[in-house]
Amino acid sequence: MRAVGAVIVDPACDAVVAAAHDLRCQSGHFLKHAVMLCVDLVARSQGGGIWKPQGSMEYLAISDVTGENTKTDSQPYLCTGYDLYVTQEPCIMCAMALVHSRIRCVFYGTSSPDGALGSHYKLHLQKNLNHHYEVFRGILSKDCEALLGT
Ligand SMILES: [Zn+2]
Repeated sequence: MRAVGAVIVDPACDAVVAAAHDLRCQSGHFLKHAVMLCVDLVARSQGGGIWKPQGSMEYLAISDVTGENTKTDSQPYLCTGYDLYVTQEPCIMCAMALVHSRIRCVFYGTSSPDGALGSHYKLHLQKNLNHHYEVFRGILSKDCEALLGT
């Protein structure tokens, strides 16, 4: 399994909100993709979330570190105004979670055969969805390929 890493940032204040890496192998939990963990961490920073951090700095919301809640109550969805950076193109589950949480932009490094943002699907271009985000691929692609062993 490839080690995918993801970071959610708040571009308005140039801050990292959550960072995670894929924990499927370590946890034995099939849903713990890096993107899903990041979205859960954002939820955690707002008083929600379903998974407890496992003691790794890679799986801590920044608010857990600083003790501050990085989000105001005035924003209607978890990731409104936030951007995601991820080493590999998200799968359909993660891409849909990003729709539901209202991410603003997604930047990824390498494509994936089952990717949902250009390779296998183009979820972000589906007109019948009630939210759309911009997608940029090839961000630091050589570094991401090296990290992912591709
Ligand atoms: Zn995924």
